[in-house]
Amino acid sequence: MLQDKDRIFTNLYGRHDAGLEAAKRRGAWNGTADILAMGPEWIIDQVKASGLRGRGGAGFPTGLKWSFMPKEVKDRPHYLVVNADESEPGTCKDRDIMRHDPHLFIEGCLVASFAMKAHACYIYIRGEYVDERIALQKAIDEAYAAGLVGRNACGTGFDFDVYVHHGAGAYICGEETALLESLEGKKGQPRLKPPFPAGAGLYGCPTTVNNVESIAVCPTIIRRGAEWFASMGREKNAGTKVFCISGHVNRPCNVEEEMSIPLRQLIEEHCGGVRGGWDNLKAVIPGGSSVPMLPREICDNVLMDFDALRDVQSGLGTAAVIVMDKTTDVVRAIARIAYFYKHESCGQCTPCREGTGWMWRVLSRMAEGNAETSEIDKLLDVAGQVEGHTICALGDAAAWPIQGLIRHFRHEIEDRINAYRSDRGGVSMAGVAAE
Ligand code: SF4
Repeated sequence: MLQDKDRIFTNLYGRHDAGLEAAKRRGAWNGTADILAMGPEWIIDQVKASGLRGRGGAGFPTGLKWSFMPKEVKDRPHYLVVNADESEPGTCKDRDIMRHDPHLFIEGCLVASFAMKAHACYIYIRGEYVDERIALQKAIDEAYAAGLVGRNACGTGFDFDVYVHHGAGAYICGEETALLESLEGKKGQPRLKPPFPAGAGLYGCPTTVNNVESIAVCPTIIRRGAEWFASMGREKNAGTKVFCISGHVNRPCNVEEEMSIPLRQLIEEHCGGVRGGWDNLKAVIPGGSSVPMLPREICDNVLMDFDALRDVQSGLGTAAVIVMDKTTDVVRAIARIAYFYKHESCGQCTPCREGTGWMWRVLSRMAEGNAETSEIDKLLDVAGQVEGHTICALGDAAAWPIQGLIRHFRHEIEDRINAYRSDRGGVSMAGVAAE
């Protein structure tokens, strides 16, 4: 269990003042000029050595991503873009960082931008996050007034500007290239890759897009040392992580914990356990709505990190843990998630545009039992044809929850179909409903 002395976000719950002076007393902006004095290469090496992997969902090593930026600024400026869109259902960690610990985050923007020779940083914040945008802008204004950002940031001679851009509430704008399109004032639709943003990102210039948490942890990692961060968690799954636990637990919460904490321990120690006790657990979605759910048997022992969850055919994603007790109708729950992805598809790719709606319609019938058992494999087949055949990962995000449902709860779908039939004297209405 993470000790208080190792906590990075010491005001995650907003119990203390989020303002500059209080943030400084908690450690933010402490020795920032000294960090920058070590030079960009050194900073990138520290972040690489810490083992930090991106906290937005994909888990790509942050320092390695930074190193993809051109080493020298030539004809095009470099940019850091921070993804504060945080729209993955179940996820609410970045919002608490931005409203309660914004100075750690702004300091991280400066350090990361300096490491990548970017003189401007754009923070793209989710449309619904109005209070968070106001809190963040207030903190940025304080940082400007104190000379921490702006011309000659922290007295280092480095000029640095940070801008907040308020999105309009589309989930797809959390995809990094759709985010860049939206930031440029265009329709938020993902770009085909390559080129990747490090080669041609915002306005066609070298750009790195990072998640809020990934950026906010960097100054503390450098202040305390890469070894300190790497000493927590497991190999390749280092450090601390803010987990968001919701659903059927006694006390839903956000909590910073050590990576690789057992799921059961996370729920029992921080959330007062599953409603009705651990034996009342039915399933958990461990990383936001797009990752496959896990049944109780796997939840008993699984660790909360990238590799352990991948090994059980799920994922850490955004570490948004959605707990479902035995009262949950898992088929209906996944049908509702399927509706979300259908609604949020940008419509560029045929498998996603057509497949998400088709999968939702079939699953909705299955939730009633109004289907043929042969349709379960057909649904699985279609999900497999959407997965990996689209421009962006929304197609995967739509397919994975359905695959997880069928993998672990096929019997529930079959039971429902059989019950529906027997209620009607053995007649399925699936053909009628499909018309
Ligand atoms: Fe748009 Fe879906 Fe294609 Fe992504 S996968 S680009 S959301 S249609």
